[in-house]
Amino acid sequence: MKKCIVIGGGIAGLTSAAYLSNKGSHVTLLESSPKLGGRAYSFIDKYANDDIDNGQHILMGCYADTLKFINLIGAKDNFIYQNSLQVNFLKRGEGEIKLKALGQLYPINLLAALLSYKAVTFQERLSIIRFMLKLPFVSQRKIKNMNVKEWLKLENQSEVVVNSLWQIIAVGALNTSIDKASASIYRSILLKIFYKGNFASTIILPKYCLSQSYVNNAVDLLERNKGIVKLSSIVEELVVSENKIIEINTSNKSYKDFDFVVSAVPFYSLKKFLLEKILDRNIDFEYSSILNIHIWLKNNPLTEEFYGLINSPAHWIFNKRSHINLVISDANYLMEKSAEEIYEMCLQELTLFTTVSESDVQNYKVVKEKRATFIPTNKILNSRPSSKTKISNLFLAGDWIDTGLPSTLESAVKSGRMAAENVIAS
Ligand SMILES: Cc1cc2nc3c(=O)[nH]c(=O)nc-3n(C[C@H](O)[C@H](O)[C@H](O)COP(=O)(O)OP(=O)(O)OC[C@H]3O[C@@H](n4cnc5c(N)ncnc54)[C@H](O)[C@@H]3O)c2cc1C
Repeated sequence: MKKCIVIGGGIAGLTSAAYLSNKGSHVTLLESSPKLGGRAYSFIDKYANDDIDNGQHILMGCYADTLKFINLIGAKDNFIYQNSLQVNFLKRGEGEIKLKALGQLYPINLLAALLSYKAVTFQERLSIIRFMLKLPFVSQRKIKNMNVKEWLKLENQSEVVVNSLWQIIAVGALNTSIDKASASIYRSILLKIFYKGNFASTIILPKYCLSQSYVNNAVDLLERNKGIVKLSSIVEELVVSENKIIEINTSNKSYKDFDFVVSAVPFYSLKKFLLEKILDRNIDFEYSSILNIHIWLKNNPLTEEFYGLINSPAHWIFNKRSHINLVISDANYLMEKSAEEIYEMCLQELTLFTTVSESDVQNYKVVKEKRATFIPTNKILNSRPSSKTKISNLFLAGDWIDTGLPSTLESAVKSGRMAAENVIAS
C-alpha cells in the first residue's frame, strides 16, 4: 500500500485524494484552513443562518474530468443539468433574449441557436456563424501571440458581436478582459464547448451550496477508504534529501511516514515553502478577482435559474430562490471599493435590467475573491509546469499547472487526476 500525503484541500487536492484512496493508497490530506473546498467553498451567513458560497460556480458539459470526479464521489444528483444549451440574456430596453438550442440535431441546433440570437443583427449573426465554422481550421501558429481582441478584430467581429457574445464567453470562462486573454486558449475552449457534441455546450449548476454539492461527498469517499483529513494544518516546510521529500513540517505536526506527496496548493502558496527547489524558470502569475453579491429580497420576481447581462458591469444573476447572487468577473478594478459602493452599483443594474427595486431588498453580502483565477496570457500559458517535478516522490496539482485549460474547476480536477495517476504509475 502506497502512503500518500496530499497538501491542499481544494478541488484539485480532493480529486487526487479520491483517486489515490480508491486505488488502495492510504491518503492523509493536509489543509491549512479550517474548511475544505479552497476557492470553491461555502460558509454560514449569519443573516440567512444558512450556507452560502464564496462564489457561484458554473460547470459545463465539456468538463469531462469534473463530471467523472462527481460521479466517482457519488455527487451526480447534486447538480442541475440542461438538456441543451440555454442562456437567458437581459439587454436594457429589449428585455429577455434567449440563446437556446434544440435538444437534438447537433450541430445544426447550435448553429440555429446562434442564428436566432436576437441581441445582434442578422448580418452579425451570419458573421458569428462564419467565425464558428472557421474555428477548427484556424492555424495555431497564426494566433499564437495574439490576444482575443486582436483575433476577433482580424475575423471581422463587430463591436456589438464582441460585447453581446464573445466577451461574455471570454469573461465567464477566462475571468479576464479580451485584450489580456490568449487567443489560443480561447479558441481551445470554444472548440470544447461547441465542437464536442450537444451536451458539451450545456451549463451545469450545483443544486446546493458547494460544500453539500461536492465537498462532503469527497470527504465521505476518502473516509470510507480509510483516508484522514487534517484541517488547520499549514504546511510550512518540505525537507528534501537525495532528490526525495523525507519530511513534511506543518504548523502543528511533522510527518515522516509516507512514500509520495501531491502538492495541490496554488502557485503563490507553493512559493512560500518549496518553489525554488523544483522550478528553474522564473515564472509568475497575475491574478484576476471575482465579486459575488448576495442579495435577499422580500419577493423574488426572477423565474429562470440564471441570467447573463449584456453591457453591464455585473455579468450574471443567479436565482437561488432564497436570495439572488450577482457575479462580477474580471473585477480587479473594484477591489478597493467598499461593500456598500459595490452593492449600490449592483442595485442600480438590478433596477435597470429587472423589476427588482430598492424597497424589495432585505439584506446583502459582498464576497471579494482577490486571487480567484490566474490570467491566461500567452506568456504564462507557455510556462506552466507539468505535474512531474525534479523531486522523485513529489507531483504537482492545482488549476495553474499545465493542463491546457484556463483556471477553472475542470483544470483543477484534471490536474488532481493527473497527479494521482503519476503516483499510481510510480
Ligand atoms: C468566486 C469564484 C468563482 C469561480 N467560478 C468558477 C466557475 O464558475 N467555474 C469554474 O470552473 N471555476 C470557477 N472558479 C475557479 C475555481 O474555483 C478554481 O479554479 C478551483 O477551485 C481551483 O482549485 P484548486 O484545488 O486548484 O486550488 P484551491 O481551491 O485554491 O485549493 C488550494 C487549497 O490549498 C490550501 N493550502 C494553501 N496553502 C497551503 C499550505 N501551506 N498547507 C496546506 N494547505 C494549503 C488552501 O487553503 C486551499 O484549500 C471560480 C473561483 C472563484 C474564487
